[in-house]
Amino acid sequence: MPEVVSEKPKIAVVGGGIAGSTIALYLSEIGLNVSLFEKGPSLVNGPPICHLHAGGNLYRDISDQQCLTLLKESIDLVRFYPNAVDYRPTVIAVPTDDSGRPQDLLPRLKKLQAEYAKLIKYDPRNKVLGESADYFKLYDRSQVEALKEQPTVEKPLHLDDWIIPVAKNIDLEKVQFPLIMVQEYGLNLFRLASSARLSLDQKENCQLLLNHKVTDIAKSAEKSRWLVTYQHEGRIQHEAFDFLINAAGFKTGKLDDLLGFKRERLVEFKAAYVSRWDECKTTWPEVIFFGERGTPKGMAQFTPYPGGYFQLHGMTKSITLFEEGLVRSSAHSAQPQLDRKFLDKIDNEWTPSEVKTRTRLAINHVAHYIPAFEKASVVPKPLYGAQQIPGRDASLRAADVSFVDDHYARCEIVKASSVLSMADAITKQLITLGYVDKGVYGKRDFATVSRLDDKQISRYAESLCRERNYPVSLTQRTVAN
Ligand SMILES: Cc1cc2nc3c(=O)[nH]c(=O)nc-3n(C[C@H](O)[C@H](O)[C@H](O)COP(=O)(O)OP(=O)(O)OC[C@H]3O[C@@H](n4cnc5c(N)ncnc54)[C@H](O)[C@@H]3O)c2cc1C
Repeated sequence: MPEVVSEKPKIAVVGGGIAGSTIALYLSEIGLNVSLFEKGPSLVNGPPICHLHAGGNLYRDISDQQCLTLLKESIDLVRFYPNAVDYRPTVIAVPTDDSGRPQDLLPRLKKLQAEYAKLIKYDPRNKVLGESADYFKLYDRSQVEALKEQPTVEKPLHLDDWIIPVAKNIDLEKVQFPLIMVQEYGLNLFRLASSARLSLDQKENCQLLLNHKVTDIAKSAEKSRWLVTYQHEGRIQHEAFDFLINAAGFKTGKLDDLLGFKRERLVEFKAAYVSRWDECKTTWPEVIFFGERGTPKGMAQFTPYPGGYFQLHGMTKSITLFEEGLVRSSAHSAQPQLDRKFLDKIDNEWTPSEVKTRTRLAINHVAHYIPAFEKASVVPKPLYGAQQIPGRDASLRAADVSFVDDHYARCEIVKASSVLSMADAITKQLITLGYVDKGVYGKRDFATVSRLDDKQISRYAESLCRERNYPVSLTQRTVAN
């Protein structure tokens, strides 16, 4: 049985995305000394996050087990960052020209519903997605036609209220029935960034090092195992640490390479687009139109924000996906090499003409199903970035962490909801090393985040949003908790 070591070990976390920020916060909550290195000026500044994925229902191609894992992990995340969640449902439509049928989705939805009921029974605080009986609801054509005649509801209270704008606006000839409403919520990137930053600011045992780029890591023969070299304001400095957490996002492989650690992984560059629909005066759910990934009929995702703003994904190569946008690691390097044109986009932004072309294509892709949306306008900055996927299966969605050395963890989340499973796995390792008492394993309810003031979260989220040149509506939620 490991004994708790007497001198406090020093933990370095490299990368302040959702993975690094959350693990730094988690470990400081359980009493460890943490230094969080982030090369950028603010936290959670990487690729976008807009869906919670509470059940993985956006992915028909993944296993039921992955969906069940995503459900449990999402519930954990809602409990951890309640103010970052947009509590609006999602409506899933299967197009008439799709090879699948809505009925094919039912066995999995029933499994998810039963699992949700089980999780609530285990701990009533898990009831964060509404009643388990309402986890999903089916709407046949006659119900949709009847709801089409109802006036829209500004603040939807009942499940049916959410279907009204869908019924009024989508081309009912282009979708199969039933439509499926599911309690798949939104996740707000700016509010997540704000919640993480405001919480970390309160932790005296977490040193938050923004604008600090880690440039080298060496294994040391001393008691402290890692010598971290970093650059800040042009100066190079070094510091020794006992445990290293690599949370560098799509650059995780770069740190692996510095240490000579092998790892197979994929990296994919993708983008979502922002549009404004002036004529829209109603409250929308998220709407998903299924389609085969990578073909011109790839899935369309219509994600609402207040003020008539919509974030759009189109899983075609001319919208969200890119030709040569998916790359893999090699025998010589754990870092998949993205083409320069993608790295330029990440580091220096896009050309206005490309933004316009791709956003227009995204608008048209959605307008195929929601004709009135054709009038939406282009907002001049997409949300984009590269994400890593451990292993070689590009459809993997539930992944968390891997260890090479006893004192080295690689965060490899694919979806934000996996961060607390990742925190559990790292905590388990730290218990084995005797860094913390085993009683902290699986801890969830920390006062720091839950005590944050919602107005303060909004204010800081807005300042981040302005700094990053996005409309402030993207910090707002359709439904707050
Ligand atoms: C278009 C798109 C849409 C997506 N939508 C969703 C969604 O709806 N829901 C969802 O859950 N997920 C979504 N994802 C995936 C999600 O964005 C990623 O899984 C998530 O951001 C990964 O978080 P991370 O903390 O691991 O990495 P990142 O957010 O990339 O953070 C890594 C950080 O490390 C820093 N860093 C790197 N190297 C160094 C260094 N040497 N020194 C210091 N700092 C360094 C970087 O600056 C960065 O801030 C989407 C991804 C894309 C591309």
